[in-house]
Amino acid sequence: MNTGVQQLIKISQYYGQKKEYVIAGGGNTSYKDDKHLWIKASGINLGDITENGFCVLDRKKLAEIPNQQFSTDSDKREEEVKNALLNSRIDPDSGLRPSVETSLHNLFEYSFVVHTHSTLVNGLMCSNWVAEKTLEIFGEEVLYIPYTDPGYILFIAVEKEIKKYKEKFNAEPKVVLLQNHGIFVTANSIEEIKTIYTDVKARLIAAFDEFPEEKELQVSEKIIKVLPAVRMLLSEEKLKVATAFNSSWTANFISDKNSFEKGIEKPFNPDQMVYCMSEYLLLKTAIRLKQLSKKQN
Ligand SMILES: [Zn+2]
Repeated sequence: MNTGVQQLIKISQYYGQKKEYVIAGGGNTSYKDDKHLWIKASGINLGDITENGFCVLDRKKLAEIPNQQFSTDSDKREEEVKNALLNSRIDPDSGLRPSVETSLHNLFEYSFVVHTHSTLVNGLMCSNWVAEKTLEIFGEEVLYIPYTDPGYILFIAVEKEIKKYKEKFNAEPKVVLLQNHGIFVTANSIEEIKTIYTDVKARLIAAFDEFPEEKELQVSEKIIKVLPAVRMLLSEEKLKVATAFNSSWTANFISDKNSFEKGIEKPFNPDQMVYCMSEYLLLKTAIRLKQLSKKQN
C-alpha cells in the first residue's frame, strides 16, 4: 500500500476515535499526491477506517470542476457539483461517494488534510464573539472564514480567501477555521498535523475562562418507568436505541421550561443539526408521553 495512504489511515483513526474531535459522522480526512486524492467516503466512520473506506479521485478532473458552469439555483447546483465529483472517481464501481467537502481538500497544496468538527474549536466557532476572539487567540496566522453555507459556495469562499492569504503571507494557511462549522488542518506530514492540533487545543484551553465539570447524576424514576414506552414509540420510527442519561450539564437544561428553551431548544453546534437532529422534546410526565403518542397516530 502507498505509504501516504498508510499514514492517512493512521491519522484518520487517531482523530476518529477521539470524541472531542469527531461526534457522530462529522469530519473527514484526505491525502494527495500529484495525480490522486484519497478522501474519506461519505457514511464511513473515521475511527475504524481502512483503505477501502477512502474514495480515490483524479486530481486533474477535480481541478476542472470550478471551470464548469453551474446552475444559479442552489439545489440544482449542488446536485450538478455532486455529479461532477462522482465523475472524478478513479473507480466508480466501488460505490463510494466523495464528501461535498472534497473540492476544499483538493484546494490545499499540502498532502494531508484533517478536517474535524472539534468540540473545543466549535466552542469558539459557534460563539457570539467568534471573529474578534479568533484574531485575539490565533492572530493572522490562521485563516478565518465567516459563515457560508456548506457545499460549493463554501469552496468558492475559501478559495478566494486562500488566494488573498497567499498574496499577503507568501505561504498557504495550515489552519482554516470556519464559523459555525469546524477546522481544517493541513501539512505535509501527519506529525505536523498533530503538532498543529495540539497547539490549537493549548491556545483554546488557555483562552477559555472555565470548563464546567460534568458529573453523572441519577436518572429520574419517572424516566425509567416510561422508557419502554419511549422505545416502542421510537421503534415505530425505526430508531431502535433509547437510553436514559442524566448529568450536571443536562440537569441545567431540563430543570424547567424556561431553561430548556434558553439552553437546548436550539442546537449548539452543526453536528447536532446534521447527525443528531436539531429538535428536542421536554416531556414533564408520562401523561405527556401518551399525548405525544396520540398525536403521532
Ligand atoms: Zn465539515
